[in-house]
Formats: sequence, structure tokens, C-alpha cells
Amino acid sequence: MVQTTIATREGSPTEIEQGSLDAFGQQLRGALLGPDDDGFEEATRLWNGMIETQPALVVQPTGTADVVAAVEFAREHDLSLSVKGGGHNIAGTALADGGLTIDMSRMRGVFVDPDTKTVTAQAGCLLGDVDRETQLHGLATPLGFISETGLAGLTLGGGFGYLTRRFGWTVDNLLAVEIVTADGAVRRASREENSDLFWGIRGAGANLGVVTSFTYRLHEVGPTIYGGLVAWPHERADEVLQVYKALTATAPRELTAFLILLRAPPAPFVPEEAQGQRAIAMTICYSGDLDEVETVLEPIHSLGDPVVNLLQKQSYTQLQSSLDDTEPKGAHYYWKTEFAPELTDEMLSTIEGLAGECPIPGGQLVVAHLEGALNERDGDDGVVGNRDAKFVYGAAGMWEPDEPRAEEFQQWVRDAWEQLRPFSTGSTYINFQTADEGDDRIRATYGDNFERLVALKEQYDPDNLFRSNRNVRA
Ligand SMILES: Cc1cc2nc3c(=O)[nH]c(=O)nc-3n(C[C@H](O)[C@H](O)[C@H](O)COP(=O)(O)OP(=O)(O)OC[C@H]3O[C@@H](n4cnc5c(N)ncnc54)[C@H](O)[C@@H]3O)c2cc1C
Repeated sequence: MVQTTIATREGSPTEIEQGSLDAFGQQLRGALLGPDDDGFEEATRLWNGMIETQPALVVQPTGTADVVAAVEFAREHDLSLSVKGGGHNIAGTALADGGLTIDMSRMRGVFVDPDTKTVTAQAGCLLGDVDRETQLHGLATPLGFISETGLAGLTLGGGFGYLTRRFGWTVDNLLAVEIVTADGAVRRASREENSDLFWGIRGAGANLGVVTSFTYRLHEVGPTIYGGLVAWPHERADEVLQVYKALTATAPRELTAFLILLRAPPAPFVPEEAQGQRAIAMTICYSGDLDEVETVLEPIHSLGDPVVNLLQKQSYTQLQSSLDDTEPKGAHYYWKTEFAPELTDEMLSTIEGLAGECPIPGGQLVVAHLEGALNERDGDDGVVGNRDAKFVYGAAGMWEPDEPRAEEFQQWVRDAWEQLRPFSTGSTYINFQTADEGDDRIRATYGDNFERLVALKEQYDPDNLFRSNRNVRA
């Protein structure tokens, strides 16, 4: 009899008879794929090429009923289970090693209601899918900087982007979800319905079930905004950093500036003589009154002589996808990040020093400004917490899969992080944590909300079916 070997929750192999798999496949409207099937490779490809995890089977649901069938099949056979949204998580938690992966990529519907200013999106959406539809109506909810990131993973860990200063974490704008919990039940969760579950979904959702759709509050944004990338040679880092500090201290919430210290890529918009040279850049989004933009951006313009200047009026969707090519799928990535309560001169000079000596050609020191709406909510308004975070910052490296200095590069990022940690709130963004970060980092992320989250996990997923994530344990 033909059998398939598949990993159990504890990682040991078990055999499933073909008849059992066939019966499972027949329950589905979507596909059940094994390694020899067309589409398996695409379904198991992750953004971070460093991850070598491979599942034995992939289910591609086309609706909630398929998700229920997959959860029940995994539970009955005690299988290692994971859920894949956009596959962008740096730790590779979208794939269950040797197990069963639910790949949500066939569920990408987006439904906008311009009257109530809400959007409901299925969980396989990428960020760009949602922006594309909401911007038809001049509306948006805060999503991340790269349009190919998965909506589900980003939202379930909190979520931030260019609009966070105005509207808070992505989950501060989440109104409701549909979720399949470990018992196979389909539940709605919102502030009114299953509010305990909704609290945990807003920051630790991957631990609590498979979310099939998200409903968000929308805001009037664009469709034309002002923004883009502007960069100067690294030699001017002192001045640029001081302007960044002053700008972020006073700028209206409609302005978000993201700082990147890097080597200029060989891109067509970078003059040849600057390519490969160290540079300090800002990516900007100004979503306020366009008549005010010159005044708001005056500190940046006063710096003068940028080596690259792509600042211009453009559509919000254009800006939201403008960095996509800088993070190609399949390269190897490693980063370490923290939240900061403020920018100090010591922190900025540490960042400048590290950028000046970074040996990784695709290395970056980054600072993103978050301060604003998210700081105004209570610490227990969703498990996401971190209401004292005003910046997220860190060191990041990207290199090719055959890079001979990969280990040295990884160690450099770790060492840089040690120098950067003293400026942290003591916590870090769950969605940026790498596979080698321990349980202490998960606890630190959830802080005072951790114990309540553990109790919720025990209530909704007592057997830890959903463990391929930043796993919450007592
Ligand atoms: C290039 C890049 C840029 C980024 N920029 C930002 C940014 O601007 N802002 C920001 O907030 N974050 C950003 N991130 C981090 C991003 O939020 C996380 O990587 C997130 O996990 C990506 O979601 P995903 O669906 O693509 O991930 P996946 O790897 O598919 O999944 C991530 C986790 O979520 C779980 N999951 C996925 N779908 C579901 C579901 N439907 N139900 C339950 N669990 C699910 C998975 O099991 C996994 O544990 C960025 C990441 C990258 C790689």
C-alpha cells in the first residue's frame, strides 16, 4: 500500500495511507499538492532563501471550508501544521518542516465598502492587493513598505507602515476577522464578538488559529501623495542624521520618514559614480495637504545636493511598491531589530559608525518613525502593546545564496545589534524576529500582556496545533 511520510506535531515521522490522503483531497475545493505536483515549488517558496524547511504536503484552500478540512485532518493525524500567507516572514515560519502547510494564496479577494469606509480582504492577499482596491476610492489602512508582503502575517503580528503615525498599528484599524480555531470551529471575532480572542489576534494571531479574512477601517489617503527616496553621500551622515532627528521631533503625522544607511545599489536612478558607495537615504511619505508639502519638507530640501532625489507627487500605490525591487525573493536575509523610545545623539552616532564600517555590500542600518497614534492607546488595547515604541531600528544584511562570507556577515549583524540594544525600549517587533531569537524575546514583545496571552492560547489551542510561529508558551 502506498504511504506518505509526514511529520507529527512533535517532529517524528508518521505514515499516512494513500486512501486517507485521497479522501482528504476529495473533501477540498482547492488543491492538495505533494512534492512532485505542479505548483508545489511555488507554493513552498519563501522570501528568505536562507530557510531550507520543506513541508511534505500543501493544501491550497479556496474557501473557509477547505481550511476547516485541513485543520481537522492535521488534528486527527497529529500532524505538524503551518499556515503560509505571503511567505515573507524572515524566520520561515510559514512552512511546517516535513508537515502540512496551508498555503492561502488562492484566497485573495478584496471587498471595499466606500460608504462605511471598510474593507474585507481574504487572508492570502498581499499588501498591494488591498491598496490597489481601496485606493480606487481614495482610501487606505496602514500597511507595510513592501507591496509583496503578506497581509495576514503582517496584520497578525501588529503591522506598521507609512500611515502608522496617523492611524496606529495595522491591528488598531482591524475591525473583525473570521478565524478557524484548533477545534475546527469557524468563529467571528471583533470587539463585540469573541472579544477575548480578538484581543489576542491583534498581535499574536498566528498562535490562535487560521484567519481566513480581515475587515479593516479605512481612512481618506491620496490617491496622490508626495514622497519617494532621497539620498546623500555617507560623508554627510552627521548633518543628515541631525536633520532626521529634528524632523521626526516636529513633523506632522502626515509625514513619515524612514532612514536607511546603505551602499547605493547599481540601480538606473543612481549616478554611476555613486553606485556601490556608502550613502544615507530617507524614504518619505507625506499624505497631508499637498499645498503644505514644501514647508513640511523644508529641512530636507535645505540639506541640498542629494546624490539621488526621487521625491515627487505620485500615487500612494506607486510609493507603496517603490521599494519592492530592493528586497528580491530568494536572496539570503538576516536582521536584528529593536523598538526605541526616542532618538538620542549617542544612538545616531552608533548607527553612523556601524554604517561606516559595515562589511556587507547589501547591508543596511535602518530607522523607521512610528510615533503618533499608536502611542495614544492603552497598553492592553490588543496584545500588540509596545505603546512606548516611537521608532523601530536595526541592522540588516542581504547576500546571495553562494556568498562565501555569509557566516561572517551574519556575525557582523549580531555584533552590530549588541551595540544597538542599549537604545531599545527592551522590546522588539514580533514580525522581525529571526529563528535564532529565544522565548525571552517573545515574552519581551508582549510584556505585561504575556500571561493573559498564554491563558488565551491554552483556551483556544491547548495542544499547540499552531506552533509554526513565534510560539507562545507558559
Ligand atoms: C521585505 C520585508 C519588508 C517588510 N516590511 C514590513 C513593514 O513595513 N511593516 C511591517 O509591519 N512588517 C514588515 N515586514 C515583516 C512582515 O510583517 C512579516 O514578515 C510577516 O510575517 C509577513 O507576513 P506573510 O504573510 O508574508 O508571512 P508568512 O511567512 O506567510 O507568515 C508569517 C506567520 O504568520 C502565520 N500566518 C500567515 N497567514 C496566516 C493566517 N491566515 N492565519 C494564521 N496565521 C497565519 C504563519 O504561519 C507564520 O507564522 C516586512 C518583511 C519583509 C520580508
